[in-house]
Amino acid sequence: MTKKTIYLDHAATTAVDKKVLQEMMPYFSDKYGNASSLHYFGQEASQAVEKARIQVAKYFNANLNEIIFTSGATESNNLVIKGVVKAYYKKEKKKPHIITTAFEHHCVLNAVKNLEKENLVEATFINPKKDGVISVADIKNAIKSNTILISVMYVNNEIGTVQPIAEIGKIIQKNNPKIIFHTDATQAVNYFDCNVEKLGVDLLSMSAHKIYGPKGVGVLYIKKGLIIAKIQDGGAQEFGLRAGTINTSGIVGLGSAISMIKDQRTTNNEKIKKLRDYLIAKVLKEIPDSRLNGSKIKRSPNNVNVNFSRVEGESLLMMLSSEGIFASTGSACSSGSLSPSHVLLSLGLKPEETHGSLRLTLGKNTTKKEVDYAVKVIKRSVEKLRKVSGSVLKDYYKNMKHKA
Ligand SMILES: *Cc1c(COP(=O)(O)O)cnc(C)c1O
Repeated sequence: MTKKTIYLDHAATTAVDKKVLQEMMPYFSDKYGNASSLHYFGQEASQAVEKARIQVAKYFNANLNEIIFTSGATESNNLVIKGVVKAYYKKEKKKPHIITTAFEHHCVLNAVKNLEKENLVEATFINPKKDGVISVADIKNAIKSNTILISVMYVNNEIGTVQPIAEIGKIIQKNNPKIIFHTDATQAVNYFDCNVEKLGVDLLSMSAHKIYGPKGVGVLYIKKGLIIAKIQDGGAQEFGLRAGTINTSGIVGLGSAISMIKDQRTTNNEKIKKLRDYLIAKVLKEIPDSRLNGSKIKRSPNNVNVNFSRVEGESLLMMLSSEGIFASTGSACSSGSLSPSHVLLSLGLKPEETHGSLRLTLGKNTTKKEVDYAVKVIKRSVEKLRKVSGSVLKDYYKNMKHKA
């Protein structure tokens, strides 16, 4: 890549912070012991892991034995959905009911859908309102006598909308304290209060690579006393819940990344939110027939998701990429396919209304200059694509007439 690049895809992943990398480095080639080994080398690694556990527990206001390290949010979410159901069947025979949302990340959505297909659970998928926010009443009304688990993401990864987790937590604690409440907080950790007590959650998932930590490492918070079954056999690592050699360097990086957020959250939030609002206003003003997907207010400080009518999102993305601007249409996983985004469909949009959507997610180092340049290129690209699609349509209609 020779040209200057502008990275506006921080919801897909972030760069490892230089300070985080520095703290990780010794654990690759020098302090490389297996944290489960009893000798000094092993204990050195184990101590580093336990230091990270303290950092993570502090961030979530949790106890040390409530923090499980995993390979990322995908694994944490799979462990939640499958582990809760498996633990349930050890005691009960009746089919349980799960409530989740229609716009969860695919690792939650497909885990639930597959259990449903296997006839192991009954499931309700709640659609958000038009603004991309789940209604507390909708969750409440979906509760049945056999509901065992409610899983609602904190911040949606595609449209950035913030869900009323604490309110849902309160309702559950008040009316149905036996129901287990989980939130996928992967996109929230950088920006929102993740105090598990305030949120009223029993389980919380997150991933390091969305918060300037390394890829392949994440956390599952499990409230004390809650029994979930392991879904992977092997060693007794992580309180017997997550077999597999401990990823020392990754965990050290996660701990370092999460401890940096607490220091910087307030100032970063203000700065990034201002830039986000500037970007939204500029795009909507300068590019005709554009609209914002999802609530403007209940929104992550770093997320912009705009729709341009008469534009194909994938074509726009490739055009921007060729100019060094990296963004996303829908989530990274779905952007490989041309099927409409399940998130945008869940808002009640028609498939043809979802196509020209562009997700721009800002990071802690994004500048106003970058935003200005990006809008200039986006505007030019949208105009170009509309001209092309316009002439394609004209040709199409000409042919139709010809045939008629
Ligand atoms: C990125 C992401 C995941 C997946 O996390 P990995 O650690 O990459 O497996 C899950 N949920 C949400 C909301 C995400 O943004």
